[in-house]
Amino acid sequence: MSTVFPVDVESPTCSTLQAWARVPAEPGPAQRTELLARCRDLLARENAVLVAHYYVHPDLQDLALETGGCVADSLEMARFGRDHAATTLVVSGVRFMGETAKMLSMDKRVLMPDLDATCSLDLGCPADAFAAWCDAHPDRTAVVYANTSAAVKARADWVVTSSCALDIVRHLKNRGEKILWAPDRHLGDYIRRETGADMLLWQGACIVHDEFKALELELLKTEHPEARVLVHPESPAGVIALADVVGSTSQILKAARELNAPAYIVATDKGMFHALQQQNPDKVFIEAPTAGNSATCKSCAHCPWMAMNSLQGLVHALETGAGEITLDPELAARARRSVERMLDFTAAQKRAAAAPAGLVPGIGAA
Ligand code: SF4
Repeated sequence: MSTVFPVDVESPTCSTLQAWARVPAEPGPAQRTELLARCRDLLARENAVLVAHYYVHPDLQDLALETGGCVADSLEMARFGRDHAATTLVVSGVRFMGETAKMLSMDKRVLMPDLDATCSLDLGCPADAFAAWCDAHPDRTAVVYANTSAAVKARADWVVTSSCALDIVRHLKNRGEKILWAPDRHLGDYIRRETGADMLLWQGACIVHDEFKALELELLKTEHPEARVLVHPESPAGVIALADVVGSTSQILKAARELNAPAYIVATDKGMFHALQQQNPDKVFIEAPTAGNSATCKSCAHCPWMAMNSLQGLVHALETGAGEITLDPELAARARRSVERMLDFTAAQKRAAAAPAGLVPGIGAA
């Protein structure tokens, strides 16, 4: 059973077209060298660390690693920022990632290269409509994906990312809980099928993953019989059904490292190809199709809001303090509870995995 809500993903501040229009032109070689040098100096001067997502420009990913920051999925970004000693976190990704970093580190300054970089999932799940949905289902545990505003997280019982969502929902199901899931319908549907949990689904979607096409993927597979298919679970069910591995960005990276196939068809944002190729120089990575006979629009498998992150934006934020994330402390405290449940759960899982067999982890505080 699913519940349909009107989903408006047009941002009041930055639509997809506006986002593309705001992506700065690629700097020439000399300007790029100069921008990178300024970024390094400013990060050191401001006691700042750069925390980047796999979908942002390769220059930002490389700079983060080179300067002691990290490139990661949203779960690891949140952990890294919280545990790092820097007094300023620069989050290169989209707004909900900056908000999550801030709520976990209220004593730190959190900057973003562009505060208007948002996400269709966040936009499609307004806090007031989500709260009304929760109110209509008081018997259900509200589980929200990390790709939501701080206000939605504050109303939820649990926050999850794509790397831990299956385990957390399975855990809740085993406790007999029924679930309200928001906002990604494909990920929710995938988790419901995998766990058999009783879930009502919000009908949001990622504008990038929603565009992958099953029919065209099937054709591509026949052209590359040697390739394994790696799919992010924000993709439609037909695409997921063709996958050899379904997982978050970090799980896709792990699969590419560990499988021994020479080639991989990858259904996720093309920003991921930088880390995939860096970590596997001898393997071939092929973009999963987003267009073809069944396509409804032309898509490039790249998130326009992730593309707004730039070296120029990073310099501007560090030089001027622009792009600072601020959160109401009371709202942040409520949102933090749901995020910390996830972090505690995944930390307990790690401890359990490292413990001798037979020990039972004390996971699941809520
Ligand atoms: S790729 Fe999709 S889920 Fe990720 S930030 Fe962009 S719109 Fe949101």
